[in-house]
Amino acid sequence: MPAPSGSPRLNAPTPELLARLAAIVGSANAVTDPAGQAPYLTEWRDKYVGRTPMVLRPGSTSEVAAILALANEARVGIVPQGGNTGLVGGQIPMEAGTEIVLSLGRMSRLRAIDDAATSMTVEAGMTLAAAQEVAAKAGRLFPLSLASEGSCQIGGNLATNAGGVAVLAYGNARAQALGLEVVLAGGSVWDGLRALKKDNTGYDLRDLMIGSEGTLGIITAATLKLWPRPAEQATAFVPIGDTARLLQLFRLAEQRCGTALTAFEFMSAATLAFVLAHVPGASAPIEPGAPWYVLLETSGLVADGRALSALEGVLASAIDCGLIGDAVIAASGAQAAALWKLRESASEAQKPEGGSIKHDVSVPVDLVPRFLELAGAAVERVCPGARPVPFGHFGDGNVHYNVSQPRGMDKAAFLALWESMSEAVHDVVASLGGSISAEHGIGRMKRDELARRKSPVEIGMMRGIKRALDPNGILNPGRVI
Ligand code: FAD
Ligand code: ZN
Repeated sequence: MPAPSGSPRLNAPTPELLARLAAIVGSANAVTDPAGQAPYLTEWRDKYVGRTPMVLRPGSTSEVAAILALANEARVGIVPQGGNTGLVGGQIPMEAGTEIVLSLGRMSRLRAIDDAATSMTVEAGMTLAAAQEVAAKAGRLFPLSLASEGSCQIGGNLATNAGGVAVLAYGNARAQALGLEVVLAGGSVWDGLRALKKDNTGYDLRDLMIGSEGTLGIITAATLKLWPRPAEQATAFVPIGDTARLLQLFRLAEQRCGTALTAFEFMSAATLAFVLAHVPGASAPIEPGAPWYVLLETSGLVADGRALSALEGVLASAIDCGLIGDAVIAASGAQAAALWKLRESASEAQKPEGGSIKHDVSVPVDLVPRFLELAGAAVERVCPGARPVPFGHFGDGNVHYNVSQPRGMDKAAFLALWESMSEAVHDVVASLGGSISAEHGIGRMKRDELARRKSPVEIGMMRGIKRALDPNGILNPGRVI
């Protein structure tokens, strides 16, 4: 991908610079051999494969600062990488092979947790699963929850403002961050590790960094909010006849449960069929046959049975008014986990079905049914016989509108339609006032489209911020804007 006109010129690192960078982290943490570099150069779908002269694995904030100071002086591009689970190519170096990869994985310590465990400060390279575990050991909840949580890291979660399955109740990654420590392009360190709920002292630099995908600074640590841990949860899996009823069920659940409603996820019949066919151990909790399925979860802070009674109340009322005919309520933790597995395997279950063109979009919740109808028609126009596999976070208006190739079609020929199909689906999104990236970010994949879809005023503000914080353009060049 060529640098956009007006971007600062960057250099390939000289052997002398590489030696100085390696000296900062020690030769064992400056990876140059192809086998050692391989895991950092491609992502799980092999959609992006890059090259780099060196992968640096710093062990401290001061090492990150020293690396950036040198790279900035030499005008060499730096690509921050966390758990390498990003879906838009932002963490993979460009094919030209001149960018340095800076992997945060060694910086994974718990720095502090306060006595009442209302917040904790962790380094950026701690995995999300490890952060959840630290919270659990303290009897608290760190609610961010993604299918990639075993690998993705807190720094990557904040850099992408990750969403996931608990946003409905707890908000996205941004809502979990109280403070950040960030190394800026020139190597200075911003210590913003405050544990304040309220802080109106000028521009919100924390929120500016969150979601900036490594283009404005390198996040090295974060102070994260911890929540009370639910004492009980109830989970149901519900077949439903059409998307208008799906929306009505969501409104009913919201109205009756209030904040006790902690998840409202959905999937189409095609999605469930792929999961049942391809995910080992997956079994239908209910006779398949409905066009849509909902996974509902309610939670209670006290183990008094109210989470279950609230859920039963919603379902009884939905049956009474003809919204649904039947539902399964998990009778044990293991059954609840099996229901969640159906939803969380939705993406991987598509792989054996051939090529898949993926969209991560959001529209106002009330317009999700309209979106699904219009997007289906748009896909059929671009590629007759292509199979939409929609699923996602209904309660957030966030649809993973994935499309599997028609049976028997050549995979490469189908994937060649990626741009025209995305254009068609994103046109529908735009017509409904939605977003072309609800949770995965922009990275390399949607950079050019972002420039087309945002107003010149918005793009101008973004470019101004980028120039102010990274005047030489060394931080994740060519990503986002
Ligand atoms: P990486 O992939 O390593 O990097 C992502 C971006 O952040 C890159 O631009 C990188 O340069 C930048 N970056 C990484 N670390 C830092 C840092 N310390 N400082 C500055 N910039 C940094 N996403 C969701 O939002 N919701 C989901 O439900 C979800 N489910 C997923 C399921 C699967 C199976 C997979 C593979 C991915 C899923 N994702 C989801 C996408 C991905 O897991 C998230 O975007 C995650 O937050 C990325 O974290 P990471 O540590 O892997 O970051
Ligand atoms: Zn998602």
